[in-house]
This record gives sequence, C-alpha cells and structure tokens, in this order.
Amino acid sequence: MTATVRASTPAPAWDRLRTVENFGHSLRAPGFVFQPVNEAQVRQILAQAQKHGYRLALRGSGRSYGDAALAAGHWVLDLRRMNRILAWDPQQGRLTVEPGVTIEDIWRYTLADGWWPAVVPGTMRPTAGGCAAMNVHGKNNWQAGTWGEHIVHLRVLTPTGQTHDLTPADDAFWAVLGGLGVLGVITQMTLQLKPVASGDLEVRAWATPNLSRTLADLDAAKEDYEYVVAWVDATARGRARGRGQLHAARHIPASAEPFPHRTLDPAYQMLPDTFFGLVPKAILWRFMRLFMHNPGVRLVNAAKYWASRTVGHEKTYRQSLVAFNFLLDYVPHWERAYGPGGLIQYQIFVPAEAAERVFDEVLRRTQSRGVPSYLAVIKRHRPDRFWLSHAVDGFSLALDFPVRPRRTAALLEVLAELDRLVLDAGGRFYFAKDATLDAATARAFLGADTVQRFLDLKAAWDPDDLLQSDLYRRVFRPRRPA
Ligand SMILES: Cc1cc2nc3c(=O)[nH]c(=O)nc-3n(C[C@H](O)[C@H](O)[C@H](O)COP(=O)(O)OP(=O)(O)OC[C@H]3O[C@@H](n4cnc5c(N)ncnc54)[C@H](O)[C@@H]3O)c2cc1C
Repeated sequence: MTATVRASTPAPAWDRLRTVENFGHSLRAPGFVFQPVNEAQVRQILAQAQKHGYRLALRGSGRSYGDAALAAGHWVLDLRRMNRILAWDPQQGRLTVEPGVTIEDIWRYTLADGWWPAVVPGTMRPTAGGCAAMNVHGKNNWQAGTWGEHIVHLRVLTPTGQTHDLTPADDAFWAVLGGLGVLGVITQMTLQLKPVASGDLEVRAWATPNLSRTLADLDAAKEDYEYVVAWVDATARGRARGRGQLHAARHIPASAEPFPHRTLDPAYQMLPDTFFGLVPKAILWRFMRLFMHNPGVRLVNAAKYWASRTVGHEKTYRQSLVAFNFLLDYVPHWERAYGPGGLIQYQIFVPAEAAERVFDEVLRRTQSRGVPSYLAVIKRHRPDRFWLSHAVDGFSLALDFPVRPRRTAALLEVLAELDRLVLDAGGRFYFAKDATLDAATARAFLGADTVQRFLDLKAAWDPDDLLQSDLYRRVFRPRRPA
C-alpha cells in the first residue's frame, strides 16, 4: 500500500515519518507517528493535526490483523507511552489504567493479589485502549462476553476537546467500545477483574474427526468449562473436513490449589525462551517458514492432527494461565514465517444453526480454489449490545491466509463470495481481523440504522472527521467511483 504525503501544509518533524504496518506485515502505509505521554500532549496533537489539515489514526500495539491502526499519509497517535496504572483496589479487583497499558502489564500487576483480566485475546501484547476500541473477546466469549462488558468507567477525549466520562448507563459507552477508535481517544478506563485462586487452569485436550463433531463437542464443553477453543485442520478434505483438536479449561478452585503463592507469582507464569531447554524460540519462525506452502501446511496439519489423536488424545493436565491463554506468544514473530507478503486473517461469526453448513462450505471453497487457510480456529460466542458488534449466538471461524502475489486475486475473489455466504446466514464480521470487507457488506451486517447512529455520534464528537484510520475510510467513507 502506498500514499502521497500532503506537501502543501507545514510538515511535522520528518523524523516522525515511519512506515506503519499491520500485525500480519501485509499492509503498510507511511504516517507521521506521535507518541504522547499524557492527555495534555494528546490535546496538542489533535489541535495541530486539525490546524494543518491532517487526519489522525489512533494506535496501540498494532496487533490488529488489518488496517485498523494505519493512516496512509496522515498522522498516527501511538498511545503506548500513556501506560500508567492509575489506581488498584485489590479487595474489589478494580484497576484503573491509561490506554497504553498492555494485557501483560495488567496480569503482572494484579495476579499476585489473585486477580486476572476477565477477558483476554490470544496474545498478551495488545493495549487496553486497543482492546476497548475493538472490544476484543476470548475463549470464554459465550460466558464472559467481551472486554467492554468488564469496563465500569471509561474516559474519552474527543477532537472538539470535550471529555466524556462514560459508564454502562450511557448510550455512548456501547458505541465507543468497539468503535474503532474514531469517536475519540480513550484516555483511561476502569476494569473489573476476575478473582482466581490459582495461577493454573485444568485443561482437557481431545481430537475430533470432522466438523460436525468439532462443533458439537465445542458446544457441549461450554456446559462444564469456562474456556473452549478448537484448532481445525483447514486442509483436510472429504469426510475429514473440519477435523481438529479441542482445548477446554476451567479455573482451579482454592480447595484444589495447595500452592497459590507459587502459581500466582508472575515469575511462575513466564513463557520459556527455549524449546526443550535448547532451541531458542526467537529463531523458530525461520524453521516454520520452510513449511509455509500448501503441501507443507498439509503435512504439518496432518502430523498435528494425528499427534492429537494418539499421544494427545483425552489428556487432562494443569497449565499456567499465560501458557493456555497466550499460546501464540510462545513463538516470537511467528507471523514472519508467512514470508515477505505477510498474512491476513478473516474471521466470520455465524449463528449456531447455520455454522456447520457455512463453515463446511468456507473450508471447501478455500481448498478447491488453492487458497486453504494455514491456521484455523473455532470459538463459541454470544450476542451483545455494542453498536458495532461482531458477536452472534453461534460460532466464529478465524482463518489465516498467506498473501502471495500469484494467489492474491483468487483469495480476494473467494473471500468476497464467502462474505455473501456469511451475510445470507445472518452472520457477522470482526474489524480487528478484517482487511477486505467493503462498505456495503459492513452496512448489511451492522444494519443501516446502526451505521447511521454511529456516524451521527461521530459527527457530533468529531465534526471535522479528524479521527480516521484506513479501515474507517474503507468501510464507512469509501471513495465514490469517478
Ligand atoms: C496473535 C493474535 C491473536 C489475537 N487473538 C484475538 C482474540 O482471541 N480475540 C480478539 O478479539 N482479538 C484477537 N486479536 C486481535 C487483537 O486483540 C485486537 O486487534 C486488539 O485491538 C489489538 O490491540 P492493540 O493495542 O494492538 O491495538 P491496535 O491494533 O494498535 O489498534 C486497534 C484499534 O484500537 C484503536 N485504538 C488504540 N488505542 C486507542 C485509544 N486509546 N482510544 C481509542 N481507540 C484506540 C485503533 O485506532 C484501532 O482502531 C489477536 C491478535 C493477534 C496478533
């Protein structure tokens, strides 16, 4: 992706000009990056951007898979240096943070007191601000809802200079959470954490031979467990399509934890730097790269599936909260294994009754067009009342795809077809994972009224449309054909 930096206005310091990327390294855009340390600096930057005619995208850790935190040719407000913990009540489990505090910062601070974030995504690197703006979910979504459902107070600074203190009683609360960072800058939030008696979870793992069993087992497991996730072999065909491995987990009660101080100690949670005490994990992505082509992935998936059917089948064990929740952080820079074109993710949310039919068709079409997903994960969800919600009473399927010049056209074509399939089934999409949706599809799943309500609030809080990311422009302000 390229863009021309506007030359007619006074340029900000040139050393701020950087190439900003998405998590998957498949999209990049030049942008002037500012890193405020407090609210006063945020105000100054908002005013300067306005004065010089630049648009501004907000950015946390840049862990969104698509273009949510990119702003081609404009300014980027990187909020990672606003990362103070402002208040902590270890009796109530209430934590007030600035937006640049990461999930890792949070659990490191609170775990020894017996508190864990109620909702976490599959990596601990995102910031609290990024999690709020995308309203992230975890492996317990059907039960615990989203990140936003555990926020008791939120402060938002709008481009007009107004500060809004929001609670769930305010209508705008449900718009800002999941609001893609275009309504205002979240400058602080208070989270209600979850009490835990142990730093370990009890985990059960088992293999499932096809999609039908994967979905049925996932649904059944939610009755007995607090977290459930399925890895799916997206390259398996025929009767094995949708085979995979489930991991279900529950917290360990105080009565079953003889050493709470040991397991709740952040040092116990540390992920090791090496595999088997020998191979440095930092170099593993280079090895993975050798298998990053269709036959290689088929081979690795088959090996993983058969391992999960044999040695890994029906295993119950204890695993630390960090190791279970943030599996993807185990291999640093794993996304680089996808090569220079990087990757995109496509996550669809489909009502329970249609999920098997739609997921089967999605897997079948991506296989038959020669663009199978290299990593596929299924989770269980419940609907919520956030304005730009991605959730349904059903399942999500998240698919990682390599971006290769010779296959890009086929990939985009098949994803556009799948968009229609998902829409027809009453499904939804998730902007944190999206790089391809068009405005019409976004409007169709969100509903024209909801989109209008959102844009009306945006017009009131940001009348000059200062806050814009490439994602926002793509789905809410598409360029009309000339
Ligand atoms: C390996 C991996 C696994 C993941 N697993 C999951 C998962 O299981 N579930 C899930 O829901 N997501 C998941 N994600 C997606 C990730 O959690 C979200 O994209 C999250 O928003 C990233 O946070 P960030 O700090 O990196 O924000 P960025 O990606 O930098 O920005 C995300 C959005 O937040 C906005 N924003 C940032 N800060 C502020 C602020 N202070 N005020 C207002 N808006 C702001 C930005 O403008 C942007 O729109 C995963 C991502 C990765 C890389």
